[in-house]
Amino acid sequence: MAKTMAVNAGSSSLKFQLLEMPAETVIAKGVIERIGLGDSIFTIKYGDGEKYEVVEDIDNHEQGIEKLLQALLDLEIVANFDEITGVGHRVVAGGEWFNHSVVVTEEVLEKIDRLAAYAPLHNPANAMGIRVFQKLLPNAISVAVFDTAFHQTMPNVNYLYSLPYQYYTRYGARKYGAHGTSHRYVANRAADLLGKPLVDLKLITLHLGAGASITAIKDGKSFDTSMGFTPLAGITMATRSGDVDPSLIYYIQEHENLSNDEMLAILNGKSGLLGVSTLSADMRDLLDVQETNEHAKLAIDIFVNRVVKYIGQYVAEMGGVDALVFTAGIGENSVPLRKMILDKLGYFGIKLNEENNNKRGNEIEISTADSTVKAFMIPTNEELMIARDVEAAKNENN
Ligand code: ADP
Repeated sequence: MAKTMAVNAGSSSLKFQLLEMPAETVIAKGVIERIGLGDSIFTIKYGDGEKYEVVEDIDNHEQGIEKLLQALLDLEIVANFDEITGVGHRVVAGGEWFNHSVVVTEEVLEKIDRLAAYAPLHNPANAMGIRVFQKLLPNAISVAVFDTAFHQTMPNVNYLYSLPYQYYTRYGARKYGAHGTSHRYVANRAADLLGKPLVDLKLITLHLGAGASITAIKDGKSFDTSMGFTPLAGITMATRSGDVDPSLIYYIQEHENLSNDEMLAILNGKSGLLGVSTLSADMRDLLDVQETNEHAKLAIDIFVNRVVKYIGQYVAEMGGVDALVFTAGIGENSVPLRKMILDKLGYFGIKLNEENNNKRGNEIEISTADSTVKAFMIPTNEELMIARDVEAAKNENN
């Protein structure tokens, strides 16, 4: 049976899932962490709850991917590499060049390299992952799945900043958004659960993880989204600031004597929940101490406030909403956060079903039967979307 590898290569990590397609069965998944940082951790989960883990130095992505492929053979997860007929890669920035997933050619790779300016931490690592897999599995079809592609349907009133227009034409200065694969997946699942075609629905999808974004989906398409030119914009995140008045940034730089790179590192890595709480970037830690630690409580309150504000904007922009969908680390797991958010939205007809909200596990409706706007918790599955896009590319190529 044909197998497809879904790959998410970061600067020092590589996550993967191997799926049997078109059956969509996950046969192995794992991660290589701390690539190039010493004591790399390589984990694979497979079979009937089996786990393989090694800690050793893995100096670069090529070495990591070689070890990964060798482990698949040694653990008898695959009998030979020809079984892996497709590899799909998450690529963060696709700019205006890519509004859907594509088979990787030299020209596509060159564009991904050029788009590194829009995602300097991500695109180079994504491109490296593609090159190494192409070298080691030359017979497998290679497909790039862009985080930004889903948002290419936004109308210009929503993606343009109120800046001199020539910055858009010269530099592509506009909103691109992110997490598109996740928003696309949960929106489709919500439509299935509602038993209605996605094109007939107005949805707001809340991808609340360490990185977080909110998307308004209308006519089956991304209509607006909270992330911007880069994934720094929008709501408060674990360590990213989200929206800030740009003049304030220059003011702080001047007073703290910070270079542009230092300031960007603070906005990306020392702000958000971590920055406000001065305690932790992990929502769980903050929830644990919110009763006694006012900074933790303030960070949570700001997070909830930003989420609620964006929902309000999107309801106004779309002229209503049929359902909200919670996903990603916080959205899928945090019962209190979902409650805090939904309790503020009673004014437009949403009523929380406390019992369902307390349940763990799979997809569930968390609004009451008489709620005029529905709410769901839907675990995201970007890997499945990637594998499906590889499958579609294979079928087109045949
Ligand atoms: P990313 O993919 O952006 O790294 P994830 O979607 O994996 O992020 O989400 C990770 C975040 O989810 C962590 O910052 C963690 O605080 C949060 N998280 C996970 N479980 C819970 C929980 N039970 N309650 C609150 N937050 C949680």
